[in-house]
Amino acid sequence: MICKVIVDISNGEVDRIFDYVVPDGLEVNKGDRVLVPFGNKKLEGFCIDTAEKSDYDLSKLKPVISKLDEFSCISEEMLALMRFMKEKFYLRYIDCLRLFIPGQMRGGRVRELKRIYIELASGLTDEERKALIPARARRQLELVEKLKEGGEYLSVVTEEFGAATVNALVEKGVVNKTDKPVYRKPYDALKCEEDKVRLTPSQQSAVDKILNGEKTVSLLYGVTGSGKTEVYMNAIERVLAEGKTAIMLVPEISLTPQMLRNFRARFSSGVAMLHSGLSQGERYDEWKRLLTGEARIVVGARSAVFAPLKNVGLIVIDEEHDASYFSESNPRYNTADIAKFRAEYNGGKLVLGSATPSIESFLLAKRGEYALVSLPERISRHGMPKIDIVSMSDELICGNNGVFSRKLEAELRKTVESGNQAILFINRRGHSSFAMCRKCGYIAKCEDCDVTLTYHSVDNMLKCHYCGKRYKMLTQCPECGSKEIRYGKVGTQRVVEELKKMFPGVGILRMDNETTTKKSAYLDILGAFKAKEAQILVGTQMIAKGHDFPDVTLVGILDADMSLYFSDYRSAERTFQLVTQVAGRAGRSEKEGLVILQTYSPSHYVYRFAKNYDYLGFFGKENNTREVTGFPPYSTILRVLMTGEDDETVRNCAKNVFVDVRAYELENKREFLFLQAMRSPVARIERNYRYQILMRIKREYEADVTREIYRIIDENKTRGVSIFAQINPQSLS
Ligand code: ADP
Ligand code: ZN
Ligand code: ZN
Repeated sequence: MICKVIVDISNGEVDRIFDYVVPDGLEVNKGDRVLVPFGNKKLEGFCIDTAEKSDYDLSKLKPVISKLDEFSCISEEMLALMRFMKEKFYLRYIDCLRLFIPGQMRGGRVRELKRIYIELASGLTDEERKALIPARARRQLELVEKLKEGGEYLSVVTEEFGAATVNALVEKGVVNKTDKPVYRKPYDALKCEEDKVRLTPSQQSAVDKILNGEKTVSLLYGVTGSGKTEVYMNAIERVLAEGKTAIMLVPEISLTPQMLRNFRARFSSGVAMLHSGLSQGERYDEWKRLLTGEARIVVGARSAVFAPLKNVGLIVIDEEHDASYFSESNPRYNTADIAKFRAEYNGGKLVLGSATPSIESFLLAKRGEYALVSLPERISRHGMPKIDIVSMSDELICGNNGVFSRKLEAELRKTVESGNQAILFINRRGHSSFAMCRKCGYIAKCEDCDVTLTYHSVDNMLKCHYCGKRYKMLTQCPECGSKEIRYGKVGTQRVVEELKKMFPGVGILRMDNETTTKKSAYLDILGAFKAKEAQILVGTQMIAKGHDFPDVTLVGILDADMSLYFSDYRSAERTFQLVTQVAGRAGRSEKEGLVILQTYSPSHYVYRFAKNYDYLGFFGKENNTREVTGFPPYSTILRVLMTGEDDETVRNCAKNVFVDVRAYELENKREFLFLQAMRSPVARIERNYRYQILMRIKREYEADVTREIYRIIDENKTRGVSIFAQINPQSLS
């Protein structure tokens, strides 16, 4: 028998299917991992098919060396998904397959499930232990302290404390070793108490529409606090009752414990969790529980869409508008497309839920491609918190040059004095910034594209990210003549410093990229804030989503305009979503909330709609703008990005690709709305020079043009250059 194998090396040249002979006595099935000879190496690989015959000379084929696992890890469905992803996102087979299994399985690093577990020996008192451990053996004492909270796997402890420490304690009889064949379960200590609620009539009808409607995809548009989670759980309950399985996705790792708590309360141990914040061991175990069917629901971030579940009846993408559902580094994919594929494959359903759906999704719902399911009212009688818009230009005119408006400062003081909590949100995206007049709010825009120009400090220029046009930095406002031009951005650190001066002795926490380099830092900071160890939390986008702090009565949005004038056609949409989401953090319990939004453009339509939580109004206006200006969803933006260490090589490659694309455009009379090759706005990252070809095309050509672009990329593969294409990229930097 022949087995068709994808070998586990990521290299464009070998992304092919290789035939191997299955020797007698070995049984290899589709979806098994195998060890095969490759060149003079032995490599791991995936058997993606078997056949009786090969097109190659049988005598030249090498035999499979062995099978790697006792179980088959890639289902028929996932193999189909792999093909779909290769076609749709132009991915290598191997990069898809790697997404489907826990990283630990590769390279034979799977740890035995039966593992050595250590615990404190029973029957010893603290005094007796002290007598056994010398006082200077600090590590040993620390380990004993840790184990007082409960046992732990040896490998985990060894990693942290070193083998010598552990052995010393074992020898002294302070700790015992045992075998423990238990799955590591993340967040095992989460308290889960079930609140039995009765669905409201609109929730009930939402569940019915989602499951019984004829459409595969439903858009659940429900204001914040309308009880979407309850709808998801009920729909999942019904799907499970039919013997099927379910996938529940949330946009961010830090939100998974909250969702998991709800799910464990309802579904107990039938829930597994998958995301990149788990330890390797935990991830493997959770994955295995899903594969074996012991768990039939998975809760997780983006990558959980690849959970090894069979017969998926329902997939939920909560906060569907969130950019984290797009994987923007290799392998690049869009979670919703994957979810849709899996739902269709299994005859199941997909729910996209949001209080602020993406323009694209809402448009599809309005056109009838998705079923539109609405929850227009909050469960609680409390309304949404009031949003006060403060003009920072007015502040300047009145002589206030600082980061905080007088109103925000006064409200902060009130909040702190009354013992409540406040969240200060700093809007920040990427490395960039724009030029703005602080007096009249004028924003520098591209003459051709009508998008905001981005300030590049390296050459002190303003650039358009859509067409590459460059402009001199402003020294004076062309509208009002003021010389107060701003292009810097406010940093979290600076805000914290000012706060400390203003409120000496008040606890302040900061959450941003710098303070959360360690994965667990997220949970630590949020936990500390929830425990009221601080009264003010200062943070970036990370604190905007879903978190529930009952004592937060004030939310300040310091620099709302930062995303509004980001050089991106989605700026207005993102800003509306952000303001709605951040505002939703205030006044969630019995206490009334207030939101203060600081801006230099107080009458901008985004803020007008956001102030009234008017999504439908915003959608109408934004949708219209997109149609008129010809941006997605009324067109498709394609970007081919080329990067490499040698500037000249990358530039030549970009030239060649461009020439081919232009030729294709002319030949096929597929007039592009825009096509240009240019240096990327961020010209160099990590020693790699970056060039891009940007095109805007009519939507109906998307599939055709994309396929052609992939072909052109293939033909222009160049040593030392990495090339890839993106459809409607989330960022153009
Ligand atoms: P959303 O996800 O739409 O923002 P949630 O699912 O968080 O809203 O629900 C908001 C609150 O309402 C939660 O505290 C939830 O427990 C509660 N809730 C949801 N549905 C019901 C119901 N049918 N009866 C009573 N309380 C409910
Ligand atoms: Zn432009
Ligand atoms: Zn001005």
